[in-house]
Amino acid sequence: MAQTVVPGLERRLKAHLLGEVQFDAFTRGRYATDASHYQIMPLGVVAPRSVKEVEYALALAREEGVSVLARGAGTSQAGQAVNSSLVIDCSKYLDHLIELDVGGRRCVVEPGIVLDELNRRLRPHGLWFPVDISTSSRATIGGMVGNNSCGARSLRYGNTRENVLSIDAVLADGSAAHFGPAARDLSDLPPASPLLPLARNLLALAAREADEIEARFPKLQRRVGGYNLDALVPGRNDLNLAHLLVGSEGTLAFSTRIELKLSPLLGARAVGACHFGSFFQAMDAAQHIVKLGPIAVELIDRTMLGLAREIAMFRPTIDAVVRGDPEAVLFVEFAEDDQYHNLRRLMQLRDLMGDLGLGWNKTGAKRGGVLEVFDPKLQAAITETRTAGLNIMMSMKEEGKPVSFVEDCAVPLSHLAEYTSKLTDIFAKHGTRGTWYAHASVGCLHVRPVLNLRLEHDVEAMRAIAEEAFELVRAYKGSHSGEHGDGIVRSEFHEKMFGERLVRAFEQVKEWFDPKGLYNPGKIVRAPKFDDRRVFRYGPDYRGENIRTHLDWSAYPGAGGGFQGAVEMCNNNGACRAPAGGVMCPSYRVTRDERDLTRGRANTLRLAITGQLGADALTSDEMAETMKLCVSCKACRRECPTGVDMARMKIEVQAARVAKRGLSLHDRMIGYLPRYAPLAAKWPRLANLRNDAPRLRQWSERYAGLSARRSLPRWRADAWREPSRFPGAAEPRSVVFFADTFNRYFEPENIEAALAVLAAGGYTVHLPKPTDGAGRPLCCGRTFLAVGLIDEARREAERCVAALAPFLEHAIPFVGLEPSCMLGFRDEIPSLVKREDARRLAANALLFEEFLAREAKAGALNLALAPVAKRALLHGHCHQKSFAVMGAVEGMLKLVPDLAVETVDSSCCGMAGAFGYGADTIDVSLKMAELSLLPAVRKAEADTLIIADGTSCRHQIKDGTGRDALHVARVLAMSVEGRSVPQSSFRGPSPARDPGMTTGGS
Ligand SMILES: Cc1cc2nc3c(=O)[nH]c(=O)nc-3n(C[C@H](O)[C@H](O)[C@H](O)COP(=O)(O)OP(=O)(O)OC[C@H]3O[C@@H](n4cnc5c(N)ncnc54)[C@H](O)[C@@H]3O)c2cc1C
Ligand code: SF4
Ligand code: SF4
Repeated sequence: MAQTVVPGLERRLKAHLLGEVQFDAFTRGRYATDASHYQIMPLGVVAPRSVKEVEYALALAREEGVSVLARGAGTSQAGQAVNSSLVIDCSKYLDHLIELDVGGRRCVVEPGIVLDELNRRLRPHGLWFPVDISTSSRATIGGMVGNNSCGARSLRYGNTRENVLSIDAVLADGSAAHFGPAARDLSDLPPASPLLPLARNLLALAAREADEIEARFPKLQRRVGGYNLDALVPGRNDLNLAHLLVGSEGTLAFSTRIELKLSPLLGARAVGACHFGSFFQAMDAAQHIVKLGPIAVELIDRTMLGLAREIAMFRPTIDAVVRGDPEAVLFVEFAEDDQYHNLRRLMQLRDLMGDLGLGWNKTGAKRGGVLEVFDPKLQAAITETRTAGLNIMMSMKEEGKPVSFVEDCAVPLSHLAEYTSKLTDIFAKHGTRGTWYAHASVGCLHVRPVLNLRLEHDVEAMRAIAEEAFELVRAYKGSHSGEHGDGIVRSEFHEKMFGERLVRAFEQVKEWFDPKGLYNPGKIVRAPKFDDRRVFRYGPDYRGENIRTHLDWSAYPGAGGGFQGAVEMCNNNGACRAPAGGVMCPSYRVTRDERDLTRGRANTLRLAITGQLGADALTSDEMAETMKLCVSCKACRRECPTGVDMARMKIEVQAARVAKRGLSLHDRMIGYLPRYAPLAAKWPRLANLRNDAPRLRQWSERYAGLSARRSLPRWRADAWREPSRFPGAAEPRSVVFFADTFNRYFEPENIEAALAVLAAGGYTVHLPKPTDGAGRPLCCGRTFLAVGLIDEARREAERCVAALAPFLEHAIPFVGLEPSCMLGFRDEIPSLVKREDARRLAANALLFEEFLAREAKAGALNLALAPVAKRALLHGHCHQKSFAVMGAVEGMLKLVPDLAVETVDSSCCGMAGAFGYGADTIDVSLKMAELSLLPAVRKAEADTLIIADGTSCRHQIKDGTGRDALHVARVLAMSVEGRSVPQSSFRGPSPARDPGMTTGGS
């Protein structure tokens, strides 16, 4: 159903809804894709605040004759979460746990609640909703019910269907109905129930088609295709009408309240990592292994093991649980009542592997055995690696990508080995390959052949593979739709799999529920061809515009020197939507708006640079709004499973906008800070007037967009200056030290403390001098990058590279304090200055604590650290987390005797450079800080040390709690000095007085 413009609909929705109503092209574009390869522009997007508002939106849609698409996190892989409809986003406001009955092990939720969030709230009661899908951090219960989602432990718990007790839903005619357990004669439904006539028809249909259902529905747990008519067949399980709605992909009704069955938390578990020298044998073994009663048997094949080894985050897990170079590993998990029984199961597993002829002492196909894993942390790491399987695969940078369409097939375990082998042959026949992973226990293995859907040839191969693969599945009496649903990908094939008669029955179900096609039309029944390129994300006219970019994107394909390919790395899997855990994406955690997600930004960029949002979309105000709340924390760089680096992309967007529209006063003040800093430091009282005079505060808010509520960092009369003595030669224990703009002018005591520690460690410290005679200190260029002044940033970077070159030639470590500066030397600067010495600079740039930790690890650290008998609360700067260097801070603090350090589980502090000062961003900034950091600081006792290495983080902590936070250098200096000094009065020794100190530079 192609719907374009419906005059008046937006206005009428806005008139009655408190939740958001957005019909602009940018918002619609952000809802045009899910995690499949399709793209369909919706008519508009509504985020209702209550069920009443849902009902109102549905009534209007009905009146206007437009269809509706209910949406959760939009992580569906089959195209069921995209349509040309009015999207109703349940994830923003409809996310409440309405009722919890601990004794009865049940709860009632709104559809938009996220699975992990629900389980976080259930855990204190010893309960969980056990359908543990890989996308649990963002998938909503409404979406899981829509798709009949299946978890890794479905062997024990079943799919979503088996765990749903009842559903309250709005029917297409606007009536509300309760779907739940019912007597076969429906005598327990109220006579006035709108469900009664419908239910009668449905039961009659199921009774009539009972034989066909018996013959054509695959007898497998992993069958989520079609409508669940089998749930209605007489003589089967107890009748529960809700089970028909489960898996119906929003095509029959709109769920508003869902009642769930809960289970007790799992106790101690044991995992056996079964190694196989042949993939075929691993697949063949699955049928025998399940007889031992595991709760999960998960596969990772050789290719995936190799890819995972390449990723820093997963390598330690693979190293810990994989011995040698197996073709496949089956992770077999047991969860008996106690560890004794788990052990017995593991022994049986070992015997079984022996019976199958496998042994560690054998070679080739027969080499294998079991590694036992009891450590719960390692078990969790295995689960994490396995569930990241798809994303590990998707980290490929080429234009060809693993495509999801046959990845869901499930076959009886007795045929699994033969099936995987034949499907591999089909791939090879069509010139491609696939990587296998996932649920061997239930015969549902994920595999995605690599194809480039921009090419007609590959689209043809996709059809041929699908036809042949589904034929194979049918021959094995398997299921073509075993986990991720039908959507557009699999609905076309229902006739082949279920037969014509049952497809007519499915159509009849849809007709009874939704005769006018209100709900998500074209899914499950009457679907378009799955290879219709007009609904592809990369359709026939898809082209990247040749935009001018400044950073190095050459690792990726496509326009803008590879910028297009980098943007397209987002596969919409939604990991950035997690409301908790990790860091990504802090702005979404506050606003819960799709626009403020890494995914929302990447999709907007993709549409903009391919001309789908009109002319000049990249430099438009809408794009600026899309990027506004990105705090450039770089968390996505590390945590996005496919490595979407939005902080870098934002630099390009800013640069394009500045080139087109010039620079605002706000951006000028931020960007040029390092240039005017020497002057401001000469007259600090004058420079600080803005903070001290309320009128100036208001002026700066009005004309420069700097919030009057924020004080700016105070200029200091005692700004740090290099001592005047001249260099010594490079000595064995030498470092070259970078005094960044922020610490130099605002917190010189940090530099003094760091130099004191280095001196105490016996290091010769060199201080690089600019070679251009400009008379101002070196600067990394960070502030220029932040406002899109790339040429200025490059100029600063060039100065640094030139000044440091003599030191780098001797491979002298280059050490500094401010994470965003030092890690910028590793990240953006080699991309700006494409020379060998810039690469060398990147390779040598270390944070102060990283350098010391490295020395400690090498046994070369010679610091006498006195006890600091205190507690300390540590907050990591986002860039420290993004570059995985928090371990170094923690490691160094551990070396301080008697210091008890706790790391706050925090995302971004919200200050993020200039972000927290912005009049239009200060509120979001404060909310980010209030998510976890500021409450943790407030809870800390008065004499607890608060440690934060980022200048902005310290400022946010001071503003939000009144507490002074310390750079780790000052804590180490305290320990070196052997004294605890009150935070506010601490001053390190002057470097000029220190005999170990030299200054350097040419
Ligand atoms: C990397 C990756 C891994 C995955 N792993 C798994 C896995 O392990 N197991 C698994 O089963 N799936 C998996 N999926 C698929 C997907 O994440 C799940 O199906 C998930 O449950 C979808 O939840 P969602 O909130 O994103 O739903 P959405 O995609 O937003 O919606 C799903 C369907 O539900 C419908 N819907 C949503 N809300 C309502 C409502 N209120 N009323 C009626 N219909 C509604 C929608 O219309 C749509 O048809 C994976 C996907 C990805 C990208
Ligand atoms: S940005 Fe990364 S984490 Fe977010 S949806 Fe895209 S690929 Fe997934
Ligand atoms: S840089 Fe940070 S704020 Fe920006 S998109 Fe990435 S995770 Fe979100």
